[in-house]
Amino acid sequence: MQRMVELHCADRHGSPRGQACAECAEFLVYVQRRLEKCPYGDDKPTCAKCPIHCYKPAQREMAREVMRYAGPRMPLRHPWLSLLHVLDKLRRVEHPMDVRRRERD
Ligand SMILES: [Zn+2]
Repeated sequence: MQRMVELHCADRHGSPRGQACAECAEFLVYVQRRLEKCPYGDDKPTCAKCPIHCYKPAQREMAREVMRYAGPRMPLRHPWLSLLHVLDKLRRVEHPMDVRRRERD
């Protein structure tokens, strides 16, 4: 996600590569904070498949914008990361409620 925000920021906001502007940096901090609270933790599925809509509407809009811009460009710049992302999408996602239910049984 960070790579995508940086790519989007560099091309759209004219920031130096690897250095997001204030707005984007703030967005990244927000995303990171949400990620820490995500019940999936490091095992988090790709956001498109995540059953939890963990972003506030404004941030969700921002995320959509970043993905729409950086998504198709990622395979060119980070082929390995993109491959991992595709593999990640193929993984079955279990809803946290199901996990909780299973742990109770
Ligand atoms: Zn920016």
